[in-house]
Amino acid sequence: MGHASFATYRPSGRFSPLTLPLFIAAIVSGVAVAWLYQALMSWIPYIYVDLVLCAGFGAALGAAGMFAVRRGHCRNRVLAAILALPLALAPVGASYYWGYRSTLSTIAEQHPETPLEIIQQELTFSRWLEVKQEAGWTLSSHGSSSSRSRPDVSGTFVVVVWVIEALVILGLTMLLVDTEAAKPYCESCRGWCVPRPLTPHGLTAADVESAMQMGDLGPLIDPPVRAEGDPLRAIVLTGDICDGCIETGFLSVDERTTVQRKKQTTTRTKNLLRRAVLTAPQRAAFLHRYTMSVGQKLAA
Ligand SMILES: [Zn+2]
Repeated sequence: MGHASFATYRPSGRFSPLTLPLFIAAIVSGVAVAWLYQALMSWIPYIYVDLVLCAGFGAALGAAGMFAVRRGHCRNRVLAAILALPLALAPVGASYYWGYRSTLSTIAEQHPETPLEIIQQELTFSRWLEVKQEAGWTLSSHGSSSSRSRPDVSGTFVVVVWVIEALVILGLTMLLVDTEAAKPYCESCRGWCVPRPLTPHGLTAADVESAMQMGDLGPLIDPPVRAEGDPLRAIVLTGDICDGCIETGFLSVDERTTVQRKKQTTTRTKNLLRRAVLTAPQRAAFLHRYTMSVGQKLAA
């Protein structure tokens, strides 16, 4: 591309010993919340709603993992990814266990004369899984209870859906946890940097291009003041700044394009530069500009 390369942020791979107990706490909470998840999943028979629930569960587990990474000062992406595996998969497994337990207790309520051990012998866990596969899901909402039609999704397809469900939850959890562990951290202050977004007026993609070819971040942080600017193609500077010192700061540059079609407005973000290391004067200049723009916004 002919660009001068900037030194960029690299996670150090370090972590506090607190990371492990925090992840264990997150896993235990996930296993408990899995009870609510499976209850909602069996209560709502529509597969589309179930997919939304599944994504929500994955996001919740991911959020718990992000908390563990942040409080555990985990800058080790490999460790974070390894811990994200049980964080996602233990609650998925638990949701099946809770589902089986709740079916057993429903049957026990219907047959109070039958001892629970007998019910458990009749309906083993693997038999319960078979019954669930046969029951399947209904895709249309108009199916009335009087029509005894077969469910739209059953048998092998149910297993496929279970695999998709596990992969969605695992994928979301891993993505969120990895994103958090990769965030900029100040090794000398032992603290996470704070992201500060700034949208300078009149700064264009051409300015970014020339700055990157020159290998100098200065013109981006302190651009010429221009009145004109394309509001539909904004350049967003994000400074990840450490508040504990005057040394550590990283700069990301994104181009945000707004496309208006009829009544729909869509925004696309394209990354141009990712977490380039700022010098101390560049960091100070960025922080100054940021403080000024926040001050202007507050005054307005
Ligand atoms: Zn610092």
